[in-house]
Amino acid sequence: MAASKKSETVGIKSVGYAAYDAKGELKPIAFKRREPGPHEVVVDINYCGICHSDVHHVRSEWRNEIYPMVPGHEIVGKVSKIGSSVGKLKVGDVVGVGCMVDSCGECDACKSGFEYACSNGGPAWTYGSRYRQDGGVTFGGYSNNIVANEKFAFRISPKADPARTAPLLCAGTTTYTPLSYWKVGNGTKVGIAGLGGLGHIAVKIAKSMGAEVTVFTTSNEKAKDAIRLGATDAVVTRGNATDNHVGKLDFILDTISAKHDIDYYLSMLRLDGKMVVVGLQDQPLSVQPFSLVSRHRVLAGSGLDGTKGTQEMLDFCTKKGIAADIELIPIQKVNDAYERVVKGDVKYRFVIDLSSLGKPSG
Ligand code: NAP
Ligand code: ZN
Repeated sequence: MAASKKSETVGIKSVGYAAYDAKGELKPIAFKRREPGPHEVVVDINYCGICHSDVHHVRSEWRNEIYPMVPGHEIVGKVSKIGSSVGKLKVGDVVGVGCMVDSCGECDACKSGFEYACSNGGPAWTYGSRYRQDGGVTFGGYSNNIVANEKFAFRISPKADPARTAPLLCAGTTTYTPLSYWKVGNGTKVGIAGLGGLGHIAVKIAKSMGAEVTVFTTSNEKAKDAIRLGATDAVVTRGNATDNHVGKLDFILDTISAKHDIDYYLSMLRLDGKMVVVGLQDQPLSVQPFSLVSRHRVLAGSGLDGTKGTQEMLDFCTKKGIAADIELIPIQKVNDAYERVVKGDVKYRFVIDLSSLGKPSG
């Protein structure tokens, strides 16, 4: 009796929006988060971006998921409470939290800042995963607060617009890392496939690295907008695809979220050109071997980055003044937003204003 009373009273009161099954409709939820451990902080969330991965997860398009699921891994908020051994942060700091909230911190991958490859059971992902400490399910950023290890809470520059910065925590790191790893720089001819949340940030980052950027989009309207975002050229790939770029590009970043023709994009690469897939369609990629072997082309993949790369990306974006183009919405519009994300109908990231959520009762 006493134990159940304790479990009812202990913990931080949280409210948010959750999916209760793979049909994917998001509805209000009230739940409790555990009190922060010695190295953890509580962040009161102000803004959270809607990444297409949230839609894939909620609809169980990649794997069986844990429900109820509170999605959201592009979080900006204020530290409201700190654990006894927290050194880096203090109450009131504005921080961002991305795709992970914890990892073992002891294996080689964690020590090198590549926590996504943690060899002790993997990291605790921000949602749909489990905390190492107590096995509790992680709930993400479509909510009023979150508990994270201080290592995974990144200080955000006071000069940055917090709502426009939130998408950098996933879309920024996922695009910055391959562009930097494959040494995109002055004069590199870069193609960005898909002009969505990831794609539009990739254009800004590649341009700031000195690249000449061509966008591949299915939308006439976005093709015009690509030039405003920093591209030199844009190709509409549905209806009137052109072959102006065949064999000319050094590097392509593929951010497309649904099944598409990989060989078409590979044909744009010159000798020794590289194409990196970050988009996560729910079906296997299909590639003609000749698309690769004929010009020594490389096809590779890249995922979100660890703490080292995320900090480097945030420093780069702060220095270059890069932030997302967003549509700010109240949480009550989240289901409409999901439908529009799937149609590619957003310029270019929905960000949820969590003040629309109200406070937990009681
Ligand atoms: P998004 O905003 O929806 O953008 C995806 C874009 O893909 C759309 O805007 C559209 O571009 C293009 N597209 C969609 N369906 C298409 C089709 N059938 N044919 C051609 N183009 C199509 O999504 P996002 O948030 O940027 O995420 C993109 C993908 O990356 C998702 O699959 C997501 O899960 C994945 N992702 C991966 C990682 C990682 O760690 N690797 C991290 C984050 C996200 P146009 O409108 O310009 O045609
Ligand atoms: Zn994401």
